[in-house]
Formats: sequence, C-alpha cells, structure tokens
Amino acid sequence: MAKYVFVTGGVVSSIGKGIASASVGRLLRNRGFSVAPVKLDPYINVDAGTMNPFQHGEVFVTTDGAETDLDLGHYERFLDVNCSSLSSITTGKVYRNVIEAERRGDYLGATVQVIPHVTNEIKRLMRRVGDETGADVVLAEIGGTVGDIESLPFLEAIRQMRNDEGRDNTMYMHVTLIPQVGPWGEIKTKPTQHSVTALRQIGISPDVLICRSDVPMPVDVREKIALFCDVPLDAVVESRNARTIYEVPLMYEAAGFGRFVTERLGLENREPNNTEWQALVKSLVEPEKSVTIAIVGKYTANGDAYKSIAEALVHAGIPQNAAVNIRWIESDQLEQDIDPRTLLGDVHGVIIAPGFGGRGIEGKIEALRYVRESGIPFLGICLGLQMAVIEFARNVCGIEGATSQEFDPGAKDQVVAVMPDQANIEDKGGTMRLGNYPCNLEPGTLARRLYGSTRVDERHRHRYEVNNDYRELLKEQGMRVSGVSPDYRLVEMIELPNHPFFIATQAHPEFGSRPNRPHPLFRGLVEAALARSSAQPSAAVM
Ligand code: GLN
Repeated sequence: MAKYVFVTGGVVSSIGKGIASASVGRLLRNRGFSVAPVKLDPYINVDAGTMNPFQHGEVFVTTDGAETDLDLGHYERFLDVNCSSLSSITTGKVYRNVIEAERRGDYLGATVQVIPHVTNEIKRLMRRVGDETGADVVLAEIGGTVGDIESLPFLEAIRQMRNDEGRDNTMYMHVTLIPQVGPWGEIKTKPTQHSVTALRQIGISPDVLICRSDVPMPVDVREKIALFCDVPLDAVVESRNARTIYEVPLMYEAAGFGRFVTERLGLENREPNNTEWQALVKSLVEPEKSVTIAIVGKYTANGDAYKSIAEALVHAGIPQNAAVNIRWIESDQLEQDIDPRTLLGDVHGVIIAPGFGGRGIEGKIEALRYVRESGIPFLGICLGLQMAVIEFARNVCGIEGATSQEFDPGAKDQVVAVMPDQANIEDKGGTMRLGNYPCNLEPGTLARRLYGSTRVDERHRHRYEVNNDYRELLKEQGMRVSGVSPDYRLVEMIELPNHPFFIATQAHPEFGSRPNRPHPLFRGLVEAALARSSAQPSAAVM
C-alpha cells in the first residue's frame, strides 16, 4: 500500500511548489524508494492541451499521450520516472467521469453532490496512481493556492484521505512564502500563519512547512512559525533560492528533511545515495566553459512556454561541464527587417521551437536561411522540422510558395500538410498525434550516430507532416530523411549532411531529457556549439 504526501501552496502562487515537491520526491528516490507523482489541477479544462502557452506555460506530453501541466515535467526530471496520464487529474476530468457515471445510472438514484461523489472520484483517481504504479509513495500536488474556491473539492478529498489511509501513511506539506518588508527587510511570518489558519478551517493541519525565503531564516523565526502553526521545529524547513533548481534536494537533505520525511511516514531509515545528484549539481554551479544557444519561438514572452527545451539544454551541458546560456528570440522580431545576423551572428547554436499557427513563421524562415548558410549548429523541434523543410524547399529547391497547410490551406505547394488520419478531425482537445511513436533511423546518418540506435521512441504532439509528394525532390537537393516511421509513411527526422550540425525532428525530444541522462539530440547540439565556440571564441557580430 502506498503512502501519500500531499502538497499545498500558501500565500501566493509561483513560489516553486512544483520544485519543492519534486525535491522531496528526490530525497525519497535517493533512499531507493519509488515515488509516483500526481498533479491535481483545479481548472475545468479536461487537460492542458487546449490552454494558451502564454498564459499557462508549456503543455507537457507524457509517453502515453496525455497533455498535462508543466509540473509533470519537473517530476519526470527530478524523479527520473515517466509519468502517465494517471498523473494528471483536473477538475474537468473528475467532473467528466462523475457526469458520465451519473448518465450511466451508476449512482442508483442518489443526488449527485460534491461530497461524496466528486471527492470520491478524486480519491479513486489518486489511489489508482498508487495501485497501478506500485510506488512506495504517491506525491500529490494540489495546484493553486489555499483559499481558492475551485481547489476546495481537492482539499476536502485529501482531508478525507488521512482518515481513510491512516495518519502514519499520509503527510501534509504546505509550501509558503516568508516575505521581507520595510526598510530593514524584516522577515514576516504572518502571511504563513494566515494560510495555515485557512487550511485548518477546512480540517487540514500541515505536518511540514516549506518556507520559501530570499534570506536565511533565524531560528527564532522558525520557532515562531512552529509555535503558531503547531508543528515541531524540524518541520519548519527553510527553502532559499538555489543557484540551480537541481540544488534544492541537496539543500533539503542538508537541513535534515530527508530523514524527517522517512520517519514521519514510517519508512525504513536508509542512508541516502546523493553521489550522482551532487556530481551533476557541481557541474551546474561550477561550469568550466559556456555556450549561447538561441531559441527562436513565438511564445518567448513567457519563459515557461519552452520549459522542457530550456531544461534539456541545461542537462546537455552537464557532461561537458558547460553552462548553456539561452538567448530568447521572438520570431516576430525577425520579420521586422532586422538582419538575422544581428540577433544570431554571435550565438553558437540555434533551436527553432515548436508552435501552432502562422504568426512569426516568416521570421523563423529568415532565421533558418541564415543558420543553414552560415553553418551554425541547428536543432529543429516539431514545427522547427516543418520550418526547416519549408525553408529548404523555398531557397534550395526553388519552390517559391512552399508552405504548410496549417498557415495557408489554399496554397499550391503545401510541402507540409495535414496527416491523412487527422484530415476529418474537428475537435481540438486530445486529438493530435500524441505520445510515443517509433522511428527507424537510417544507417550512416547523424541521427543514428547521436542516438546510437536503429530505432527510437519519442513523444509527439502534432497534426501536420512533411508531404510525401515532395520527399524525392528534397532528397535530390541534399536534404536527408534520417528518421522515418516504421511504415515509411511519415518523415520523423531530417538532416543536412553538408552542414556541421543541422538536424530536426518531428517529435519532442525535450520531454525525455533528464539531468542525469541528457537527451542525445541536445547533447549533440551543445557539443557542436562548443566546437563552434572554440573555433570562433568571439564569434562577434559580422
Ligand atoms: N503546428 C504543427 C503541427 O501541428 C507543429 C506542432 C508542434 O510544434 N508541436 O503539426
């Protein structure tokens, strides 16, 4: 039977609740316990797939094709596990199940209510994570902040879980902000006291308080919190800003929190093995060299919109002891008559990011032309592959009007077109080609060399594909199709053999990267970028 750690947030959002809970998961993993994460999101969308990345950040995709909140990405990276759709529970999903059950007549005439029907469904979905993964610990994070109307059913469900599962099998962890105010930067505990009071009003007394603070918290401040919030002193954990998010588990360990959690949950007292984690953090905080990689995208105003790509780049630098600096470039900018050289002339590598819709497309084409002609290492991801094909079709194959059906449904030369299986789909939610699909890698290609394998599975999220009518022409002109679906119908990867490093994939390799296992395509890009930077140490703007 799994134990449960429930994570709630207090005072304000965006204080790193996801990182805090993923870090607790890492403490358990370092002791050899298996951990299954679950994120409970109070929004009514059935999943995050229909949400705008500007507002909500990246849509994370699981191997089984669920479109989820980006926090699952943190969990996968910190815990080195693959989540499934079970790990994402939304109000929309819960209500859909309840309403479907009501229509089937499952409730046998009962009046269907938030308590017990909705809360029972939430508990069932949470327990299913434990049952199906067989994990020692289920780590359940409730989205939003205590006090939000919409998260109440989730909080009520976790309150009930203590009774159902027993005190020793459940732990409530509250992540809160300790602000500083006034001219002397006085540390204030009142907002934390208030949010704990709000939690208590709904029947939950936190067992642990993770206190996010910019400055060290003196022991008297921790004592005050312990006294007012009714927890022992060692349950008031200081959580200061770290040099890298991956340092947080080590900081918690140093504060004795790993031991506290295992004791509190009645788990075996094991020595943690932090060696791998310490080594990767060392490389991150004491890099020996650095490279700059540009990410060209259309949602760069929200740094979270490409979260997994940014993290995958950080991971890729670790084995090389290299810091990877990211230069964000909004693709619209490249459409404003700005010479791509002024934005990209001094970077060591370029990523063209995934995206939807026509805005910023011409800017990406400008960037790609420059990258192709100037030999800057390039990795194209999903839309990035489609753009590389369009640019090549226009500027190398001479098909002036080459485009994608997505941007111009009436165009003559749709070198990227909707996949046949997608042609008649009208609903937008959960209907793309989603999750893991296999890809065969052609012999003698960069893709095959980087992956070191003949067949790979990668996660997908797209509707459009390279149009097979143009495949021969692209090939004749020097673009290599290096990865194809096993039935040869879909182009999965392309590359340019006469370029130092030019590779693109229809998949989303960023979701599979881990700090301890950087993804081969990102590793390849960073290695090529390092080679470029040592060949041209000050590749100044030409
Ligand atoms: N818009 C493109 C498609 O649907 C690319 C999607 C993406 O980049 N994830 O095929």
